[in-house]
Amino acid sequence: MSPRLIQGFEVVIGFETHAQLSTRSKIFSRAPTAFGAEPNTQACAVDLALPGTLPVMNKGAVERAIEFGLAVNSTIAAQSIFARKNYFYPDLPKGYQISQYEIPVVQGGTVEFYLGDDKKSVRLVRAHLEEDAGKSLHEDFVGQSGIDLNRAGTPLLEIVTEPDMRSSDEAVAYAKELHKIVTWIGICDGNMQEGSFRCDANVSVRKPGDPLGTRREIKNLNSFKFMQQAIDYEVRWQIGEIEDGRAIQQATVLFDPDTGETRAMRTKEDAADYRYFPDPDLPPLVIAPEWVEAVRSQMAELPRVMAARFVGEYGLPEYDATTLTQSKAMAAYFEAAAKASGQPKLASNWIMGDLSRRVNDDGRDFSRLPMSPRQLAVALRKVAEGKLFKNGVGQVIDHFWREAEVAGGYGDTLEEAEQVVGAILAAKGLDQATSAGELERIIEAVIAANPDNVAQFKAGKDKAFNALVGQAMKATQGKANPGQVNELLRKKLAG
Ligand code: ADP
Ligand code: MG
Repeated sequence: MSPRLIQGFEVVIGFETHAQLSTRSKIFSRAPTAFGAEPNTQACAVDLALPGTLPVMNKGAVERAIEFGLAVNSTIAAQSIFARKNYFYPDLPKGYQISQYEIPVVQGGTVEFYLGDDKKSVRLVRAHLEEDAGKSLHEDFVGQSGIDLNRAGTPLLEIVTEPDMRSSDEAVAYAKELHKIVTWIGICDGNMQEGSFRCDANVSVRKPGDPLGTRREIKNLNSFKFMQQAIDYEVRWQIGEIEDGRAIQQATVLFDPDTGETRAMRTKEDAADYRYFPDPDLPPLVIAPEWVEAVRSQMAELPRVMAARFVGEYGLPEYDATTLTQSKAMAAYFEAAAKASGQPKLASNWIMGDLSRRVNDDGRDFSRLPMSPRQLAVALRKVAEGKLFKNGVGQVIDHFWREAEVAGGYGDTLEEAEQVVGAILAAKGLDQATSAGELERIIEAVIAANPDNVAQFKAGKDKAFNALVGQAMKATQGKANPGQVNELLRKKLAG
């Protein structure tokens, strides 16, 4: 496939993502990681590296890194090293951050996702464990800044890609897929507003066939919308600079959502500026194969494994299977509806279409819909049996959205669902006219009342048949299934 060009330039993007690991305590201490505590109440002496303290590796953080590596087909390093990254910043009073440099715990791997109908694959370079720094607070102070060290020592997994992405759309799709993976396996809560999942986008442009251009790194993108806007702005800006004859300087930039622009924050440091060296306080991190296997055996089914199963077990197209495994809740909703209805493709269509739209519109989650998967299944079964017209399903869904409390839990049985949905269909008169017996009576009446059309049909005029279908649909007030009306009418006329 030829690259998508913008004004003759190819866009090149690589991502560095910081996923905050969902441990209760810090990466090297027992201080809590909870968000939103009073400033400076949750950093202990170890987090601040006060004299006389020693860091101790949090096993839960390592296990989460292993889970991530397994989820994206990486190599888990049998032995990895913690290093000190030295720099000065007010939110880092100890003067260095403990990170991994030469030998990270997770190496290689791929993240696969769909961009429209195209399957994409982004290669990972590595994922390494590190601690977060504190936070500078500028808003609440005039002429001063506050420092909150609560976040110091919070465990992070920094996930680094190869520069494999070629558009802002692809970059956002990658970030969404990565977000899905870390939340699915439960190693990160994924809360972007609270900073649990922060992306840095490295962006450069080049003429096709040229070596990679100089990149600028957009820091701390904390929403998918801003991510797209920031990259699009940055690409236009870089192309403008080059076309005006200026060279791009490597830099770290920030996106300002108010102006929609990126702004240089500092020229980029080189790795050499950080004077990385192995942390003398921490021994190498040794991960035995048995540990990896123990972690693997406790992991839930991964999205891509589940998607493959949906293809095999329910005969779904790969696209459906991938879409339905966007979240655990969506996948579970589908599977319950498919099982209870015996109509996986119908269930998939309604879940990917109508229900997803509603979920997005009202910011809901598939674990808390006003309609249970079994209730959907009952409606779908009626469609499959020809007892409910397709748009009747939409009316049933509408009814639940208007009338029902947010369910959640979905503890109903199939019998209960049948009763509830049956009552709705009865109240709306949706399933009476289409019950097989009644439809037969209606069609017989239409045939009896339209002898001219019947005669014309028998003389080979298709139009006359359509007129009879129209009469029958009208008599059912549009509630019948047109396919079923067609079929029954042909049978009666032939008989
Ligand atoms: P650093 O050590 O300065 O962080 P890396 O080589 O680790 O630099 O790369 C950081 C990120 O930048 C990676 O995600 C990588 O894919 C991406 N990257 C590197 N070069 C380019 C480039 N020319 N254009 C876009 N992204 C790039
Ligand atoms: Mg890097």
